[in-house]
Amino acid sequence: MSVTHEAPRVLLRRLREVMADGGHATHQARLDKIVELIAVSMNTAVCSVYLKRAGGKFELCATEGLNPRAVHRTRIHIDEGLVGDIARHARPLNLSEAAAHPSFVERPETGEDRYKSFVGVPIVQSGAVIGVLVVQNMTRRQFFDEEVEVLQTVAMVLSEMMAAVEADADDDEAPITPRFYEGLGLSEGMAMGHVVLHEPRVEVARLIADDPDEEIERLEAALYKLRRNVDELLRTDDVSHAGEHLDVLETYRMFANDRGWLRRMRAAIRNGLTAEAAVERVNNDMRARLTGQRDIYLRARLHDFEDLSNRLLRILTGRAATASDEKLPRDTILVARTLGPAELLDYDRRKLRGLVLEEGALGAHVTIVARALNLPLVGGVKGIAAEAAEGQEIILDADQAEVHVNPPTDIAAVYANRARLRARRLKRYTRLRGVPAVSRDGVNVRLDMNAGLMVDVENLAECGAENIGLFRTELQFMISARLPRVAEQQQFYEKVLAQVRGREVIFRTLDIGGDKILPYLRTAQEENPALGWRSLRVALDRPGLMRYQLRALLRAAAGQPLSVMFPLVTTVAEFRAARALLDREYALAEKAGRKLPKTLSVGAMLEVPALAWQLDALLPLVDFLAVGTNDLMQFFFASDRSNPRLSSRYDLLSAPALGLLAHVCETCTHKGVPVSVCGEAGARPLEAMALLGLGFERFSMPSASVGPVKRMIRSANVARLRAAVADLRAAAPEDMRGGLQQIADGQGIKL
Ligand code: PEP
Ligand code: MG
Repeated sequence: MSVTHEAPRVLLRRLREVMADGGHATHQARLDKIVELIAVSMNTAVCSVYLKRAGGKFELCATEGLNPRAVHRTRIHIDEGLVGDIARHARPLNLSEAAAHPSFVERPETGEDRYKSFVGVPIVQSGAVIGVLVVQNMTRRQFFDEEVEVLQTVAMVLSEMMAAVEADADDDEAPITPRFYEGLGLSEGMAMGHVVLHEPRVEVARLIADDPDEEIERLEAALYKLRRNVDELLRTDDVSHAGEHLDVLETYRMFANDRGWLRRMRAAIRNGLTAEAAVERVNNDMRARLTGQRDIYLRARLHDFEDLSNRLLRILTGRAATASDEKLPRDTILVARTLGPAELLDYDRRKLRGLVLEEGALGAHVTIVARALNLPLVGGVKGIAAEAAEGQEIILDADQAEVHVNPPTDIAAVYANRARLRARRLKRYTRLRGVPAVSRDGVNVRLDMNAGLMVDVENLAECGAENIGLFRTELQFMISARLPRVAEQQQFYEKVLAQVRGREVIFRTLDIGGDKILPYLRTAQEENPALGWRSLRVALDRPGLMRYQLRALLRAAAGQPLSVMFPLVTTVAEFRAARALLDREYALAEKAGRKLPKTLSVGAMLEVPALAWQLDALLPLVDFLAVGTNDLMQFFFASDRSNPRLSSRYDLLSAPALGLLAHVCETCTHKGVPVSVCGEAGARPLEAMALLGLGFERFSMPSASVGPVKRMIRSANVARLRAAVADLRAAAPEDMRGGLQQIADGQGIKL
C-alpha cells in the first residue's frame, strides 16, 4: 500500500458514512462493512476485529480475508497469541513474519497460516483495551510506520463507535460499580454529595474532519494559547504555584514545547482526525506506552502529560479550565489529583461539601485552607481522579479516612444517619453562638478562635468566639508565591482588623520552619527540622523579615489597639531581642510622625519546656503568655507532632503533662499575667475541662471547636471541678484520662 494523505482521509470519511447509517444497518453489518473498507483502502488481504467479551476473552467479531466460519468462534485469551500480546501491553505489533514472534499461536480454524506480515493495534476506551484491530498480508514485509499510524487512527474511531453502540444497548443504565478508597483524614468531618472533577475530562464528540489544514490551524492556535497559559502560570504571583507545583509547571512547559508531540498530532490530523481527536489519539499512545511503568517518575510524567492534553482539549472545545467556572451542584464534592490553595478558594464555598485529593498531606497548604473553610478533606486517595466520573454519588468521611463512590444503598443509609446525628449536634452549638462562655458558678471564660487566613476571620461572628487569640501570620506567607511586601502585609492586616470590628486579634509573628515551608525562602536541609532553625530563631537571625512584618503591623493598627506575640521563645534573651526589634520599629514610626497604635500589648508563646522554668524572669517583661500545646507536648514527650504513629502514644491528660501545665498556670496567676492555651488540646472538650480544672480561663481554638467547648464550660461548676481535679492529681492514678471522664460524668459536665 502506498501512503498518501488522501487515502486515510477517504477511509475515515467512508467509515463515518458507515457509522452514520446506524439506524438501518445492524451492528454486525456495520462491523463487516468496516473491515472490508479497511482491507480495500489499505490494500491488505486480511482485516479483522477482535472484541473483548464478558469472560475477558477477545472474540473474532468480523473479518475480511479469514475464514468467515471462525467469526464468533475464535476466542483468544489475553495471555495467548499475538492478539493477547497487543491487548496485554496496550501497544501495536508490527511483524514481517508473524509466526516468528514468540507469542505466536496458530489458530487453524481461521486459515491465517498463509499470511506472513501482521499489524495489530489495540482499540482503547477510557484507558482500557476493549479490542484489537488486525491487518495481514501474504508478503513478508514490515508495514510502514505511517500505515500503523493509520490503523491506530481507525482503531480510535472504532472505539468511539463501540462506545456509542454500548450506550444505546445499555439504555442509559450504565453499570454502577461501588468503589471504596482509603486515604488520610486531613480536615475533619463527613460529607455526602456528587462528584465534581476539578479538571473536567473532555469528551471528544467530533472525530473526523474534512479539512486538515483548518484543523492544523485550530491545533496550532490552541497550542499557542496553551503555551501562553503555562508561561503565565509560571510567571504569575498567584498563590497556588509554589513548591512542588512549580516543578509540575516546568514539566508542562517542557511538554508544551515538545516538537515530537506536535508532529504526532499533525500526522493524526493529516490522517483525517479533528484537532481534538488528534490530541486524544496521541494521548492514548502515550498512555499505552507509560501505563504499567514501575518508575514512579515516569508515571508522574504520564499524569502531567494527561493534564496538559486535557488542558489543550479544553482550549479546543472552549470548555472552562476548571470546574470552579462552571455551574456546580449544591452538594459538590470536589475531586482532584492535586489542588492549590488559591484554586480551592476560587470555588463557591456555599456549594462545596468536601474535597478528595489523590495527593495532599497534613502540612500542605490546601489542607490549611480546607480546615480554615471547615471543609472535610480526605487526601492520599490513589487513582480517584481518573476513576470517578462527574455526577457520581460520593461519600467522604475524613474522621475514618474513607471515601465511597457509588455507595450501595445500605452504606449510604449508614452515612445518612451519621450525617443527621452530626448536623443535630452542630445545630446545638449554633444556638450557643450568642451566649457567653460562663460557667454555672459564674466564672467568665475567654473563648477565642485561631485564624490565619481571611476566610477564617470571616468565621468569627459565626462560631461564637470573642476574639482571635492566635493569628498565624505565616499562613499568608505560605500561600504566597513570593515574600509579601510591607505594603501588602499592611493591607492584609488592615483587612483583618476591619473585619473583626474592634475585637482583639493577637498577631503571632512569623512562625516558619519545621513543617511550615516558604517556597521562596531557601533554607538548608536539617536532620531535625522541628528542633532546628525555625520560628523566632529564623526571625532573630534574619531580622529584616520580622522588622518588615512588625512595621506592617504597626502601620495597619494605627489608632487601634495592637497585640503581638512571639512564637517558640526558648530563652528570656530571645524575647528581649524580639521585643527590641519591635521597640525599634515603633520608635522609627514615631520619629517619622506616623500615627501609632492606640495601645500595644506584647506576649510570648510558651512552646519550649525550658521556658516554663524561666517564668520568673520572663513574666515581668510580657503582657500575656500563650501556651502552644502542639509544640510544647511534642518537645515535652519527644514525639513528632506530625507523625501519625505517635499521635496517640503520649497523653496530655497524664500526670507529667498536667503537672507542667499546672505549674505554668499557677505561676502566671500568681504574677497576675494573663495566660491562655492556644494549641489543639484546648479544642477538645475533655482536655479543655482538665485545663479549666487546672486554673486556665482563656482558650483559643479552631472555630469549629468553639461550640463544643462553650457547651462544656456552661455545664461546669468551676469551683467543684477544680477541687475534683486537685484531688485526682493528688491521687495520681495511672489512668488520669479515665479519672477526668469520671469527674465529668459525676458533675454532669457536657462533653
Ligand atoms: C502550638 O504549637 O501549639 C501552636 C499553637 O502553634 P502552631 O500549631 O502554629 O505551631
Ligand atoms: Mg507552635
